[in-house]
Amino acid sequence: MFGVTPSVTGTVVFNRSATLTLVFHWCLVKALTMAAALTSIIRVFLVGDVMIGRGIDQILPYHCKPWMYRDFRNDSREYAQLAIDKNGPLPKEIGMDYVWGDALQILQEKQPDFRLINLETAITTSETAWLGKRVQYRTHPRHVETLQAAGVDCCVLSNNHVLDWGYPGLAETLTTLKKANMKYVGAGENIFEAQKPAIFEIPNKGRIVVFGACHTSGLVNEEWNATETKSGVNLLSFEDIPYVVKQLADQVKKVEKPGDIVILSIHWGPNYKWLSSPMEREFAHAAIDVAGVDVIHGHSSHHVKGIEVYNGKLIMYGCGDIVSDYEGTPTPLHKRPFHNVRSLMYFADIDPLTGEVVDFKMIPTMMKNLRVNRADEEASSWLYAKMSELCEELGGGVQWDGSELRLVLQSGGTTHFFTQGIGWTGSAKCTIILILLIFVLTIIACKSCIFRKVVNLHKCR
Ligand SMILES: [Zn+2]
Repeated sequence: MFGVTPSVTGTVVFNRSATLTLVFHWCLVKALTMAAALTSIIRVFLVGDVMIGRGIDQILPYHCKPWMYRDFRNDSREYAQLAIDKNGPLPKEIGMDYVWGDALQILQEKQPDFRLINLETAITTSETAWLGKRVQYRTHPRHVETLQAAGVDCCVLSNNHVLDWGYPGLAETLTTLKKANMKYVGAGENIFEAQKPAIFEIPNKGRIVVFGACHTSGLVNEEWNATETKSGVNLLSFEDIPYVVKQLADQVKKVEKPGDIVILSIHWGPNYKWLSSPMEREFAHAAIDVAGVDVIHGHSSHHVKGIEVYNGKLIMYGCGDIVSDYEGTPTPLHKRPFHNVRSLMYFADIDPLTGEVVDFKMIPTMMKNLRVNRADEEASSWLYAKMSELCEELGGGVQWDGSELRLVLQSGGTTHFFTQGIGWTGSAKCTIILILLIFVLTIIACKSCIFRKVVNLHKCR
């Protein structure tokens, strides 16, 4: 035991066999631990806006009345017709899963452990449009099945459309999701519910804790802020960032357990602007440093934005729109460079032990025929070039293998994957090296009887 044995004379004798066994077991445990850590990496699927209202609602099986109030057009069906005029007819039969198109196969291939979206529409047939708001989105309550068709685990509701159809519209949205057993964050019947995180158990891997929030820069009406007695959204103020982050830290502390991955999903920043504001960056960094957030999932921009890895933690400033009805809409000149129908499906591999992102891949997509398609060559090239440019400004970059983009970091003139340089590939290499090391050590120690003693250590004297 422990490689030493007391002799009859009281002196301690080195027991070579027991020491070798100990070393062997120690190496084995290390290798197994590393292999276990490798398999416990949690893969999170994140996208920006999922807008299944307006034109999309009209093509799905159970649609709301097409009328809108104060929109650029007054009939939702026009958005579907514009898409048909541009890209051709839609299939005769459209099921609840239609809009996800190629995304379903991609999800099947990638097998994420968790799926998070920003639901950029109210789920309601309410007729009480928010007065004075120019654009209103709603989708029929039966279309919650469209979210289920993509296996969505959590809907973020803290955005500038959840109250488009007033408080009755919000109430029906919440009720519909509850009835469908679909978790949501960022909005609620009062501020306590709006701030409350949703918690998800990932079998044999750990937990994911999601908070939802928004900021007025994401065009969220200040009046929509929930209070103790009024329903609404979890609206943050950036006037006193340390104070807001401290509040967030308290909320995280209340629920967090060791090994949890904490995600803050936030609707912020103006539409159609490439760079994030210094305030957004300050908040994101503080949320990671002080509040213990592991992933910032930002949305609102309507187009892709740069991604930052800060102290190993992931910051997505704007994810774009994965599902929308813009494809046939004439795009004003100032919005054309942003290509709002081109987007990305984001897959983040996160180590629950550290909360750090260990690998990050993006699949280019584009809306066509009112469904998600794999991006064509032109759109893919554009997304590659644009993401390279945007991520380089944040200390990173992307690589393109012809089907997916992979986030890389730049430091000291070299390109590598993430802070510790250990991704899936790196961990796998470490495991193999460690296992080889066990045998090398054993062989060296038992060099006089290599074969026999490696196989049967207890005979090694
Ligand atoms: Zn929005």
